[in-house]
Amino acid sequence: MLTQRTVYCPYCGEPIEVLLDEEDAGQQYIEDCQVCCRPITFKLSVGMDGELTLSVHDENEAF
Ligand SMILES: [Zn+2]
Repeated sequence: MLTQRTVYCPYCGEPIEVLLDEEDAGQQYIEDCQVCCRPITFKLSVGMDGELTLSVHDENEAF
């Protein structure tokens, strides 16, 4: 099942639409921003209620 989410680039603040796949929960991947071309780290996790949560980080952020 795919869920569409909008996140904001940590560098330029542009909205980015992403499709989340429940099967990718717990994964982390890097994709370049289509606007500023900088690498964004996407982290996909599942909360206690089973809700998918997507967070974005810039490459210099410690997490
Ligand atoms: Zn950007």
